[in-house]
Amino acid sequence: MSLTIEEINKMLDLRSDTSTLPTENMWKAMSEAVLGDGGRVDLTGRGEDPTVYELERLAADMLGKEDAMYVATGSLANHTALLAVTDRGDKVLVEKSAHIYINEKFDFMSKFSGLVPVFYHLDSDYQISAKEIEYLIQDNDIKVMCLENTHNYSGGTCLTPSCTKEICDLAHLKGIHVHLDGARIFNSAVAQNVDVKELVEPVDSLMFCLSKGLCAPVGSMLVGSSAFIEKARSVGKMMGTPMRQAGVIAAAGIVGLKENVSRLAEDHMKAKRLGQLLAGIDNAIMDPKADQTDFVYINVTPTGLTAQQITDGLREKGLLVAKMTDESIRLAVHKDITMEDVEKAAEIVIHYFASLK
Ligand SMILES: *Cc1c(COP(=O)(O)O)cnc(C)c1O
Repeated sequence: MSLTIEEINKMLDLRSDTSTLPTENMWKAMSEAVLGDGGRVDLTGRGEDPTVYELERLAADMLGKEDAMYVATGSLANHTALLAVTDRGDKVLVEKSAHIYINEKFDFMSKFSGLVPVFYHLDSDYQISAKEIEYLIQDNDIKVMCLENTHNYSGGTCLTPSCTKEICDLAHLKGIHVHLDGARIFNSAVAQNVDVKELVEPVDSLMFCLSKGLCAPVGSMLVGSSAFIEKARSVGKMMGTPMRQAGVIAAAGIVGLKENVSRLAEDHMKAKRLGQLLAGIDNAIMDPKADQTDFVYINVTPTGLTAQQITDGLREKGLLVAKMTDESIRLAVHKDITMEDVEKAAEIVIHYFASLK
């Protein structure tokens, strides 16, 4: 039942915020970008592309950290971060449904980094219990703790600044490095109405994606102290992270950071509206508490069908959604999804679920 790209382009696509297309200002910045050879590096590992350098400075300043590194994908940024601060066999404290654990995997495969996961949980408010962390770090020799904000598999939920700080303080008492998978950290900051700097101040390193709600076509940033980024550049080089004239895409990232952060609030409004429209479906489970940023999650178990069957069924009705687990699907909104699209998507979902009863 696979569709061609032409067929997909005709459908209403709420699979992910990764499908955002560049804004007009991004196209303009890309066409005018000043370029250089980013693969030609100085002693600290910094490349010669001036636009990439400008993006790295901007990202570091906005996040309140010393330095940043432009990387092709978020997965590569997370992987580089973990590689920079671990050795094979080290224990990593991670939540079981974290993107780093279930999607990226390579850090925990013997073929790649060979790290050992130790799991913590999120509570019913999608926060982390200090008691559990205290207990886990007492009994295990943990090298790194991974956080995720917003939390993808919980529906794009936010870790609060106070929870982040409390957990990081505990980790730091034991000399544990805290890495934040902040693919959508700006969604979290905007939704909680806090300065992103405050939100990430307690973490030692973080990754965020330019290629999601910020609308850049490609790229993620790894951010941290100068010493950490220097180490990340050096392990990154072994994996081929340096790019040549990447300023051509970095230029769009600069526009994303300068112009598209505050517009994430519009995405959150559209997702809220979608959540409200779908709230009446009685053969689906949704947690209104999880409706915090740009996603709506639906647990489909009451239908008696699998998430894959539901995803296929909705596709036949012209709506693409993401199957997340065997039991849940995700609808994501972003710049290129209008309020009209939201209403149309809700109509398709409501009719489809009603037809299953
Ligand atoms: C998208 C995402 C990533 C990875 O980013 P890619 O650019 O797709 O590799 C990592 N973590 C989370 C939580 C994400 O949503």
